Amino acid sequence: MLHRNDPGYDAERTGFQLLDPHRPDLIVPAATPEDVRRAVAHAAEAGLPVAVQATGHGLPQAATEGVLITTGRMNAVTINPDTATARIEAGVRWEQVIEAAARHGLAPLSGSSPSVGAVSYTLGGGLGLLARTYGYAADRVRAVDVVTADAELRHVTPGDDLFWALVGGRAGFGVVTALEIGLVPVARLYGGALHFEQVETALRTWRDWTETVPDEMTSSIAIIPFPGRTVAHIRITYTGDPREGEELVRPLRAIGPRLLDTVGEMPYTASAAIHNDPTTPSGYFATHSLLRELPDVTPLLGVRGVIEVRHLGGALARPQGAPNAVGNRDARYFAAVLSPGLAPGTDVAALRPAHDAVHDALSPWATGGRLLNFLYGANAGPEQVRRAYEPEDYARLTALKAKWDPDHLFRLNHPIPPEVVTPTP
Ligand SMILES: Cc1cc2nc3c(=O)[nH]c(=O)nc-3n(C[C@H](O)[C@H](O)[C@H](O)COP(=O)(O)OP(=O)(O)OC[C@H]3O[C@@H](n4cnc5c(N)ncnc54)[C@H](O)[C@@H]3O)c2cc1C
Repeated sequence: MLHRNDPGYDAERTGFQLLDPHRPDLIVPAATPEDVRRAVAHAAEAGLPVAVQATGHGLPQAATEGVLITTGRMNAVTINPDTATARIEAGVRWEQVIEAAARHGLAPLSGSSPSVGAVSYTLGGGLGLLARTYGYAADRVRAVDVVTADAELRHVTPGDDLFWALVGGRAGFGVVTALEIGLVPVARLYGGALHFEQVETALRTWRDWTETVPDEMTSSIAIIPFPGRTVAHIRITYTGDPREGEELVRPLRAIGPRLLDTVGEMPYTASAAIHNDPTTPSGYFATHSLLRELPDVTPLLGVRGVIEVRHLGGALARPQGAPNAVGNRDARYFAAVLSPGLAPGTDVAALRPAHDAVHDALSPWATGGRLLNFLYGANAGPEQVRRAYEPEDYARLTALKAKWDPDHLFRLNHPIPPEVVTPTP
């Protein structure tokens, strides 16, 4: 256990997001499920709220009190090639699963950055590189090991109400010690990145093109301002025949001269290069909208921060596997504004107007929904969290929260209150 002022306290509480890290009363660096169970028992007895951190990529509002359980030391991965499943402990990063699964010609439904924690990503939905072909990562969860507020370690499976709530509802229902997830038979793909200086043409062409592509094509675009110039970065993942992939990408290559073109056949183990996300911890603030359509890209042009638009639909819109709480499956585009490179302690209130202006301009096409995984910091309050779910699912989540965590022990996260609400359309 680490208290404030103990050597190692600062290193243990600080993860990838540097803007406003957790500052709890106590940190429990857990190495086993029993460590987690004891930490939860201690917190429950002392009436202290509980937070959990694996890597810090998805930090909600920082804990300023209570117990922080860190899971980075629980990092075993076991692949079962016969059932195409993986058992992953709470602190595992996607890069470990990608490497282990690839030895059997398999891949997890990982996302843009392999450094992200696999358990939290999956339980928050999990919008991956293969999303339109295979759907949300959450849809392939087979079993969850979790310590609940009564300090019991439980193994929950489809059919259990707690399974439904954890897969999508995540940290409000317990501290997950391990997941069993399904893998997909993808060893190689046709993918990579295209970079253009013709930002507006790239954005318009990509948008029109997304309306024509099959579900095997998952793509996104980022508009990134660099000193002196702005670059459009189109990311491609195609799970079909590479020759078909090349044909499909032809209209994008015709946008104009490419600053960089890495699209080609590649192993899934090289998929980090598709988005090329930053790997160094930093401060960032991000907001997003989910859109039912994107008829006009003008709101996304000339923005000060980084813009990212991901193409949704395909298998994401077709829930599969065991039912879970993941919502907003009708959205066709995810549009985010990112303010990167912020100094620790930056007040994000000053950044809000620029973010709001983009989302206000997109509002005629917005569904009003959110993706839990992309709700960070000051943007991870109860109202934003509510929008991650269908109204009737949110009502069920609050009822299950009242059942499983009536004292709101697990509240230092993306909070779901234990006050039962009735669905509002
Ligand atoms: C660079 C970058 C790229 C990303 N790319 C994608 C992407 O492509 N697709 C996508 O869907 N998301 C993406 N995300 C979002 C990411 O999936 C979420 O932020 C996710 O929550 C990060 O999990 P973590 O364990 O790495 O982070 P943490 O900050 O350690 O965890 C986030 C939260 O999850 C909860 N949590 C963590 N561990 C547990 C546990 N064991 N039991 C219960 N609750 C737990 C806690 O509330 C915690 O605060 C990205 C984020 C970043 C910063």
